[in-house]
Amino acid sequence: MTVREEIEQLKKEKNAVILAHYYVRPEVQELADYIGDSFYLSKVAVGLGEQTIVFCGVSFMGESAKILNPEKTVLMPDAAADCAMAHMADAETIRQMRERYEDLAVVCYINSTAELKRHSDVCVTSANAVNIVRALPNRNIFFIPDRHLAHYVAGQVPEKNFVYNDGFCPIHAQIRSDEIRRKKEAHPQVLVLVHPECPDTVAAMADYTGSTSGIIGFAEKSSAKEFIICTEVGVEYELMKRCPEKRFYFTETVPVCQDMKRITPEKILHVLKTGENEVILDEGLRTESKRPLERMLALG
Ligand code: SF4
Repeated sequence: MTVREEIEQLKKEKNAVILAHYYVRPEVQELADYIGDSFYLSKVAVGLGEQTIVFCGVSFMGESAKILNPEKTVLMPDAAADCAMAHMADAETIRQMRERYEDLAVVCYINSTAELKRHSDVCVTSANAVNIVRALPNRNIFFIPDRHLAHYVAGQVPEKNFVYNDGFCPIHAQIRSDEIRRKKEAHPQVLVLVHPECPDTVAAMADYTGSTSGIIGFAEKSSAKEFIICTEVGVEYELMKRCPEKRFYFTETVPVCQDMKRITPEKILHVLKTGENEVILDEGLRTESKRPLERMLALG
């Protein structure tokens, strides 16, 4: 039996479903029942009938799935796959900000640990952050952990006062405006599609800014034929699937999230066989971090 056949058989036996983020390897995306960005996957996870969720992504994604589905078994194919940015804020700074600013809303990007979520008022994703921040009654916003997404949202919601945190995604931070400029010179017709985790110098060159699924949707609908994609390279798989006639370029320093690439079909098979790498959360942490996630789902 092939690895794929074994996975399919075990999925039936164990009543399991496979969720995968757009940034994982193509051969993992091919095995998934649902593929998407963090927002889509967090919504999908809530309504699933299967008892076991195999989450092909980094640890904060598995945590979110478990927070929203405590009765389900959530398995991570690689327990060491983590997101550096998810840890780039701390409870003490949040406490100090709450003291300093009246009427403060702590807005937490979903790319964060459960521990950070528990200290926040609402979660957001890159797809819904603008709408959710706009809908909040608070004027002062402490946006954690990503400063680049915070700057993008602040630009869209100028009526709010933003306090910035110093976190960033090391992968999107590698994307450089001089490399984009050179690509544009070589391909004058291209449109530049930018994820808001990119630095401001890159954001300034965008023809479109949006979440990973926003970028895919824009490329699909656009009459343009060539695009520079400023996000993690794994998205190329879905772009090529949906728009085989179009051309997609990445910067010379290709943005690769090595943590997302840790997940392989063999590791999916292993956790399905053994039940290893189950996400276990302390019940207090789970209920406290659920509140901002549920508020996001209600507002988003
Ligand atoms: S691409 Fe960046 S934000 Fe996404 S999981 Fe990797 S390190 Fe985290």
